[in-house]
Amino acid sequence: MTESIKIFNVNFGDCFTLEAKEGGPAMLVDFGSTRRLDDNVIAAVNRTLYRAPERYLMLTHFHADHYSGISRLCRNLFFNELYLPDFFSRGIIRLNFALLEFLSERSAVYNFAYNMLNSVPVLAPHLDPNGIISFVKRHDVITNSIDRYRILWPDNTQYRNNFYNAGYSDEEADELFGELISYYGTRDLYEMITARADSFSRPILQLINGSERAGAKTLNGGDALVRATNDMRSILLSATAEKTKPIKHLNSSLRRKISAFQNKMCLCFDNASENTVDLDKKVLFLSDITRENFNIITAGADNMKLCSAYSAIKVPHHGTKDYFVNNLPQSCFMMISNGNAGSGSGWMISALYGLHYSTRGFICTNYENTCDYYLADRQCCASQICCGIASPYYQLEL
Ligand SMILES: [Zn+2]
Ligand SMILES: [Zn+2]
Ligand SMILES: [Zn+2]
Repeated sequence: MTESIKIFNVNFGDCFTLEAKEGGPAMLVDFGSTRRLDDNVIAAVNRTLYRAPERYLMLTHFHADHYSGISRLCRNLFFNELYLPDFFSRGIIRLNFALLEFLSERSAVYNFAYNMLNSVPVLAPHLDPNGIISFVKRHDVITNSIDRYRILWPDNTQYRNNFYNAGYSDEEADELFGELISYYGTRDLYEMITARADSFSRPILQLINGSERAGAKTLNGGDALVRATNDMRSILLSATAEKTKPIKHLNSSLRRKISAFQNKMCLCFDNASENTVDLDKKVLFLSDITRENFNIITAGADNMKLCSAYSAIKVPHHGTKDYFVNNLPQSCFMMISNGNAGSGSGWMISALYGLHYSTRGFICTNYENTCDYYLADRQCCASQICCGIASPYYQLEL
């Protein structure tokens, strides 16, 4: 059972641990910030995981504000299981190699692609010899020594107008790959990128083949994985070797399409079971899900129906206005992790949360005073709204 949550104060970014009990098994959900991570946060994350008898790691997606701290995991920390959104298909891998080929390292779309492709090589050395990497999607359930978590998103069956087919991923990725190739007018690179992506993914796809668990594609730790990840690392290195880029800037409509596609990967979950009504120790984590995709989750009438009430909800995308949703289930607490995302991003914590959900408790990191509600002087803990937590973390007992 999920007994407590630590909300790490990481400026603009997400980093949480879910624990069964103090010193019990722990799961790290994201480890990132758009800015330099404080050393005391890094130490506290590692300390929490290190003393846990079993440990798990979930990366919801590959934006820096969720991913950047991964390289700061302490060396001798090994995980029983890693959970990644289900991206490991031939088409997605190829599209993302194309992004590395054509785009500048300064582009967010490039960095998402790089972090995604690099996630298995970077994390495999942190896997226990008997550990597992699971690529999860909607309808999968992960059961570990903390709790049983339902994966609510990504939904690989969502393709365009709710047309269900074998998987949005490859079809849509292939289409975007074709558009990129014709935009850059480099037909000759088509074969090269395809071959590179295939040699990167083939060994892993072979290891995945036949090792599915509860619907999720899985990779087992061990020698074969170590060999495969060494190969992946060198292919990735050659793909990112210095070259003169970009040939030309990506046009904005294609960039938007690609970034929307990458955002679909964002992993959301709860620990409810079908027909749970009790909010006791129930948590809902919504990563950076878009309003459109959140509404698909809420509309779900299948066994992934949301509870009517939770103990705590991690609101979408750091509480920013563009991602605000007014139809979240009931909850005692709302968790918002936000800070200064950089010049002129306009990504403040929207006062809409405090106004619309006025009866709830808020745990809002408010790093560098980025909470509009706080700035409007309507604070604070009098109305159970707590804007600003001490570094390195706030611990919420459920
Ligand atoms: Zn994101
Ligand atoms: Zn984010
Ligand atoms: Zn606040």
